[in-house]
Amino acid sequence: MRRWPIVLIVCALVAACSDRPPEPADLLLVNARVYTLSWPQPDAEGRPATGAPHDGRTWHPDADAIAIRAGRIVFVGSRADAERYRGASTAVRDLGGATVLPGLIDSHVHLAELGASLERVNLVGAATEEEVVSRVAARAREVPAGEWIVGWGWDEGAWANRYPDMRLLNQRVPDHPVVLRGLHSFAVWGNRLAFERARISAITPNPAGGEIRKDARGQPTGILLNNAGALLMQAVPAPTPAQLDARLAAAFEALLAAGYVAVHEAGADTELMAALERAESQDRLPVRVYAMLAARDVDLIDRWRQRAPDTEGRLVVRSVKTFYDGAMGSRGALFLEDYSDRPGHRGLGGAEYGFDRQRLAFLMRRGYQITIHAIGDRANREALDFFGETIEQTPGAAATRPRIEHAQVISAPDLSRFARLGVIASMQPSHAVEDLPWAEARIGPGRLQGAYAWRTLRRAGARLALNSDLPGTDFNFFYGLHSAVTRQNRDREPSGGWRPDERLTIEEAIRGWTTWAAHTAFEDREAGVIADGRSADLTVLDVDPFTTADRDPSRLLTGRIAMTIAGGRIHAAR
Ligand SMILES: [Zn+2]
Repeated sequence: MRRWPIVLIVCALVAACSDRPPEPADLLLVNARVYTLSWPQPDAEGRPATGAPHDGRTWHPDADAIAIRAGRIVFVGSRADAERYRGASTAVRDLGGATVLPGLIDSHVHLAELGASLERVNLVGAATEEEVVSRVAARAREVPAGEWIVGWGWDEGAWANRYPDMRLLNQRVPDHPVVLRGLHSFAVWGNRLAFERARISAITPNPAGGEIRKDARGQPTGILLNNAGALLMQAVPAPTPAQLDARLAAAFEALLAAGYVAVHEAGADTELMAALERAESQDRLPVRVYAMLAARDVDLIDRWRQRAPDTEGRLVVRSVKTFYDGAMGSRGALFLEDYSDRPGHRGLGGAEYGFDRQRLAFLMRRGYQITIHAIGDRANREALDFFGETIEQTPGAAATRPRIEHAQVISAPDLSRFARLGVIASMQPSHAVEDLPWAEARIGPGRLQGAYAWRTLRRAGARLALNSDLPGTDFNFFYGLHSAVTRQNRDREPSGGWRPDERLTIEEAIRGWTTWAAHTAFEDREAGVIADGRSADLTVLDVDPFTTADRDPSRLLTGRIAMTIAGGRIHAAR
């Protein structure tokens, strides 16, 4: 970055500079449909700016070649001009007409959970008890005896009338404690060793809201329902540092294969921070990580509040993640009025939910970005109140780019406060299409006006960042784009889209995972667009999302990641 002004000055002084061939590139990408996103931003209605490569009907790429040297983009433009960067040792990749976007950034992820989810024995689609046990037994052969085996995805809904028990599991997997969560998370199935480790026996009473299934002799059968599942899940030990390192490595590999060059970790605790720091120091961070410290880890926060944010390197620590309320599906989100389907209940939030105003205000004044999970309209209002008061006391705090995660239901008077306070609404397009089956029942049609209100927030001047909140939802980029531009699920329902006025355009959706996500992490000059001097972070796609969205947005779902280039390194997708 610092070299460019010098180069410009030298060029100005030496008139012949532009005629001399430039230093050869390490890598030349040619025959590509490059969308640099370096043109001006769309307006609040999503209309392309003057200067955008849009002819009034559809989009056109604004470059077809890119040159990369030492992890940086040194040229983007036409193939003919790119040839000047070809040297004897330059690798040339013909992309065969594939589309290139700025490297994708998922601005809300949970890395350790992603790693854990990749490690579990996958039981999705197992039709019989025999099949489940066989998959677990196969894993047991690779795992030292005594270590836990965690599986997920057997269909407790489909099997509800004929739940399995622990007998076959005990027989075939006697030496490992086994815990198998159901697909819908309301049943957990375990073997004898797991029940022994968790000290669940004939005399263990049912917890509130849960059932330990027992046989005629009063012995646990192996199945735990609803809240009883936690009795077994809690017995699974936390990962060792080596296990956590392995999970992170698996998570990074999955992210690169899915096109991501950078992520924002939404709540790193002491153990995860240690693993991320190990990874950075040992050059095992193929994906850049912008870490939000988990506010609930008080010791971790106490260590960081002594020092300034760490803004250097591939691991950046300048954000703190906290919760104002819970989730709407479980009626834990905090609302101004009663839930429509539970009169007298408005959810829970604020101090009751662990929100510590003083500590957070201190951190914000210290230069940390405060990131508040807020779902209900009251939680969002009070989160905005907190930002407003802190900024009023310390005007410089506005520069920390405060953010609200989810910003799911906003009351009309609060919409304009995002722009006024400079609060970024960090939202998950997939949540809108996944929540729509029950969202209206929870809050009724009136409050839906301010729910998942992407366009309304944009009109009110708010900045958005778009992301997946993985691994809770599918983090496939094309699924995210499809959700954002259609507000329909994979089956193209509901027809016409759910409250379609709130849809985003394809440019806005792509910016949500690139330019806007980069801004949210203070990377405005480093990432988010393809331009000279920026980090060589690029995502190559086998379909052009711009023109596909114009022609037939449902076709977005067929797109695949062809290649991910992170810091100039090529990671071929599978
Ligand atoms: Zn999250």
